[in-house]
Amino acid sequence: MRFMPKIKSIGHKRWMAVCLACCLVAAQGLAVGTAPELPDPGNPRMTRDQQTQLGLQAAGEVYKQMPVLPDSSRETQYIQKLGKRLVATIPAENSWPFQFHVIAQKEINAFALPGGSMFVNIGTIQAADNEAELAGVMAHEMSHVYMQHSAKQQEKASLLGGLAGIVGGIAGSMGGVWGTLAQSGIQFGAGTIMLKYSRGDESQADAVGAIILYKANYNPVALADFFEKIEAQGGSGPQFLSDHPNPGNRRAAIEQEIANWPARKYARDNPEFAAVRKNALSVHAYSAQEIADGAKSGQWVAENQKNGAVFAGAPGGGTATSAPAASTPAPSQASVASVPAAAITDVQPSSIFPQTDLGVMKIVRPENWQVTQDQQQGSVTIAPRPGVSGNAVAYGVVIQGIQSPGANQSVQQITAAIVKNLESGDSKMKQNGEIQSISVNGAAAGSVELETVSMMPDAAGKAQAERDWLVAVPRRDGSVVMIVFVATQRYFEQMRPTFEKMLGSVQF
Ligand SMILES: [Zn+2]
Repeated sequence: MRFMPKIKSIGHKRWMAVCLACCLVAAQGLAVGTAPELPDPGNPRMTRDQQTQLGLQAAGEVYKQMPVLPDSSRETQYIQKLGKRLVATIPAENSWPFQFHVIAQKEINAFALPGGSMFVNIGTIQAADNEAELAGVMAHEMSHVYMQHSAKQQEKASLLGGLAGIVGGIAGSMGGVWGTLAQSGIQFGAGTIMLKYSRGDESQADAVGAIILYKANYNPVALADFFEKIEAQGGSGPQFLSDHPNPGNRRAAIEQEIANWPARKYARDNPEFAAVRKNALSVHAYSAQEIADGAKSGQWVAENQKNGAVFAGAPGGGTATSAPAASTPAPSQASVASVPAAAITDVQPSSIFPQTDLGVMKIVRPENWQVTQDQQQGSVTIAPRPGVSGNAVAYGVVIQGIQSPGANQSVQQITAAIVKNLESGDSKMKQNGEIQSISVNGAAAGSVELETVSMMPDAAGKAQAERDWLVAVPRRDGSVVMIVFVATQRYFEQMRPTFEKMLGSVQF
């Protein structure tokens, strides 16, 4: 469940770390170890191409929602050089089209998107004491990409299917790439991006990051140094800490990992780091709040363009060059350029309404609208074939069971929480009007309309608005059945009688 991400502060077991470190130092002299190799990154269901595309879509969104420094800036040039040095340690067959950018944000943060687009806040450069610490954060982020943690998380989310499914799934059914991102633990708010890694992912990113650092001739312990620094500072890196939960014993784990590696004389601090850091202190950096405000007003789209910070898409062309540049309109269409516009006659509901038994409920449907169970999303789609592309729906109904966002919540609260979650998975989605109380098969339910951009362009190939009617029916077992009726703004009223007939037929 990805309702409000909470920031947890985890106590540091420093005494244990110190003790372990002593034992390891003692043992180090005896062992002659072998140089470490990067582990097998695994083989998640989401293909490398899909991950790359997804990451590029999200990177395009970053350029709309945050102030990015142009690639020509001194900080970006430096981060790119440092990034290249780290990438060089990864064997080509398991590498990604990494690219590196700097965000003009005060708070300490860095994140990497699937496929390898990495963003480092200028506050991170300002806060690092030496190049190795900065390399440490970047190697950690790079390891999330290398291990494909987002793709693996998406897989885990899909396994939750059925009534225990997650809300991200419904966004997936509706919004294509944004839902997939949400399921991968990546969500956009206004001017913020939230990534969610598990503690297991964190330990692994540290362990793999340590190997990258070692191979690039940096002391892997610098990674732990920097994470400890962020924790000590508390306030300025809350987003970073919430994205990367402390697995508990970072320093001890890294010290243990490197104990048996052949001794190495690590590179001395690079004097260029100090010069870049000094320069970074003079660059205007915005607070998270200012960035959120600017994202809402469209300030960053204009300013990035003016500054020459334009997202170029995939490095060196390749298959992903169609990814959104800063000038591309809404993100949800960038992925659907290939979706043909459906004429209303193609999606028009038949007047024959057979009943369908979905297990948790029965519902009638237009005879020409097909029922598709999506095991991955844990959802059922009832839609005309031309109204669907991949797992995105432009016309039809998506039904999904989810867990209630909290105990003892009113129908209103539950519906509001679902709306909030849907909005956080789709930056274009907005609630339209108030949440109404209705009754579905005698059960109290919440009803509200939402608006977003349809995944299907209009007949002229232009983006068009979509209307979504969300009905949330809390069940006694703590689950909530979500029903979302989807149509383009243009044809919603024509579809409404069909939607109402379907809702009126629901039997639990
Ligand atoms: Zn992490």
